[in-house]
Order: sequence, then C-alpha cells, then structure tokens
Amino acid sequence: MADCLFCSIGAGEVPAEKVYEDDQLFAIRDINPVAPLHLLLIPRKHIATILDFEDTDSALVAGIYRLAARLAAENDLSDDGYRVVANCKSDGGQTVYHVHFHLLGGRAMAWPPG
Ligand code: 5GP
Ligand code: ZN
Repeated sequence: MADCLFCSIGAGEVPAEKVYEDDQLFAIRDINPVAPLHLLLIPRKHIATILDFEDTDSALVAGIYRLAARLAAENDLSDDGYRVVANCKSDGGQTVYHVHFHLLGGRAMAWPPG
C-alpha cells in the first residue's frame, strides 16, 4: 500500500534492521526500543489494524505467535518469558496503521500496562 511505513520497510524501500523474513512475515528491531529486546513482527500483507483480520488470515496470525516463540528462543527468553503486544487504534496506542506485534523481553514487564 502506498504511503505505508511497514509496507515500505517490507519492500526494502525504507531501511530497517530486519532480523527475520519469509514470504508472509518479517521482523525488525523497533527504532525506539522500550525493552532490551524489542522486535516488531509484521505481516507483509497490508492489514490496517487487528480489527481487520479475516477468517483467511488465521494461519497468518498463528504464524506470528510461532515466530514470536522462535525469536524469543533465539534470544534466550524461553526461560524467563516475554510479552507480545498488538496495539489497536487510538486507545490502544497504535501509531502505525499496518498490523504489527511487539515482541518485548529481557526485563520484567509491569501489569497493568500504562
Ligand atoms: P504502535 O505504536 O503502532 O503500536 O507501534 C509502532 C512502533 O513502530 C513504535 O514502537 C515505533 O517506535 C516503531 N517505529 C516507528 N517508525 C519506525 C521506523 O521507521 N523503523 C522502525 N524500525 N520502527 C519504527
Ligand atoms: Zn502497509
């Protein structure tokens, strides 16, 4: 989609530190990390928010959580754990309207979130 930051990063038109990519998904380091490990797991397909997933996206969503587990394991987070967050629209704190999941780890997370 034109004028979408994560479509542009996925296409290689905007630079980012990619740590994973396949034909469906890619993962990058967040430019403003809030935890020792802060990755963004992003479907290549342009989907604006997590409200917009369709039944045909079920495997894609499952794949995001499988990728989170794999990247967490690669970063030695399997024992202590990690958090996966998807912010949705204004009250959820979403700023980029192309679905992405934050993988946060390397420190204990607070609850409730701010
Ligand atoms: P949201 O607020 O939509 O849940 O998350 C968007 C995330 O994208 C933020 O954590 C922000 O730091 C990150 N971000 C914004 N612009 C860029 C960029 O150009 N490159 C990278 N790697 N991350 C970005
Ligand atoms: Zn997009």
